[in-house]
Amino acid sequence: AMFLGDYSEAVGVMLFYRVGEYLQERAVGSSRRSVSELMSLRPEAVHVKKAGAVDDVPPSEVLPGSLIEVRPGERVPLDGVVTGGCSVLDTSAMTGESLPVEAGSGSSVLAGYINGQGVLEVRTERDWRHSALARVQELVEAASGRKSPLEGRLSSFSRIYTPLVISIAALVFLLYPLVTGGSWADGLFRALVLLVISCPCALVLSIPLGFFAGIGRAARQGILLKGSNYLDALRKVKTVVFDKTGTLTEGVFSVDEVLPRDGVSPEELLYWAAHAELSASHPLGRSIVKAYEGTLFPDRVAELVEVTGGGVSARVEGRPVLVGKKSFLQEAGVRTEEGEDRGVTVYAALDGILLGCLRLSDRVKPGAERAVRKLRELGVSNLVMLTGDSSSAGTEVGLKLGMDEVFCGLMPAGKLEHVRRLKPETGLLAFVGDGMNDAPSLAAVDIGIAMGGVGSDTALQAADVVVMKGDPLAVPLGMM
Ligand SMILES: [Mg+2]
Repeated sequence: AMFLGDYSEAVGVMLFYRVGEYLQERAVGSSRRSVSELMSLRPEAVHVKKAGAVDDVPPSEVLPGSLIEVRPGERVPLDGVVTGGCSVLDTSAMTGESLPVEAGSGSSVLAGYINGQGVLEVRTERDWRHSALARVQELVEAASGRKSPLEGRLSSFSRIYTPLVISIAALVFLLYPLVTGGSWADGLFRALVLLVISCPCALVLSIPLGFFAGIGRAARQGILLKGSNYLDALRKVKTVVFDKTGTLTEGVFSVDEVLPRDGVSPEELLYWAAHAELSASHPLGRSIVKAYEGTLFPDRVAELVEVTGGGVSARVEGRPVLVGKKSFLQEAGVRTEEGEDRGVTVYAALDGILLGCLRLSDRVKPGAERAVRKLRELGVSNLVMLTGDSSSAGTEVGLKLGMDEVFCGLMPAGKLEHVRRLKPETGLLAFVGDGMNDAPSLAAVDIGIAMGGVGSDTALQAADVVVMKGDPLAVPLGMM
């Protein structure tokens, strides 16, 4: 255009293009900022015990065999064995296991577990570079290195259009003088005119503007995109793979069924069980307390004893109450009925006589079922659930939601293998997950969607799209 003397045209094209790109970048930038705001970027420190004093040092500087302290609510920083204290660990981010795991002296713990209530003293067994957490991060890096970037709409258009227009212009330049007998300068002039008029100014501005609006709208619905190309790519998804715990289910147990024996009312059963568990630290106990709707009387409870891996015993109104596993009650001489337990069942006894049992389950998120239905309506042909949970309850959840396939008991590398195998011939594959154990898969697939509600930072980092409130319904919403 400059050569032809059409300066306004030249400036206009570049300006349109720049403005469009700028707006699109701004939308993506604000999405990315929101994602990093979701991450708790506190610097991690290990509390190392040395000669009676506690020193805070970065994980990379702790040698194997050091004695470290893990406080309530903190993440276990290094792999090791518990040497003191007892607590309940949330291992769901690493293993996908939704049931909390009890830890006492001698239990081995992995980096990435989250400590519940008590202070744990841990002797480290490996340095940071060889810890379970570092291995997951290595998997993430390797997986994202192998991923081919998705093309944006504009670049896939220009991949064909640009060479086409340039070759036509070249042909005009070469053929014009030969065919019409005009001068070479004439040919050049005509070729340049062709280039100027074929520049798609409107397209160059409208596509980025469209994305600008789309990304902004998605962000208002709690869907954060790390790149504008994912907006387009979401529509081409044909296979969606879900993680279970924390993604489709809440990851928190709640009382589902109250099953008293004959002659006992459900309220009575809950009253005794909730009071025995009133000051217990186990998460299942807290769920039972939450399920009791009446008034709680802390002064009626005495002599609380928690037995790791068993249950609790306490005196409520001066009468002995036992709450826990069937085996725990049987050891105390309580007669219980025979038969297999379905899911997680907690038994309660008063004065040595069984009151009944409570059934607890990891509740499915309210939007999960509708999300699956909507995805089918949008033409997703294959829905799969992968979980680290090995229990039969896991399989049940998946089948109830209408998944095509369910795979249980998977470690992070196992999940990764499955998503690689599931990659469809046509269309794209999206993986939806929340935990550290999902991060390698999130990084490897075409579109990784992380649940931002309770998810881990590693997952948020590895993902391409983040759903802020962790609502599964946002997945089909983003595809519309
Ligand atoms: Mg999970």
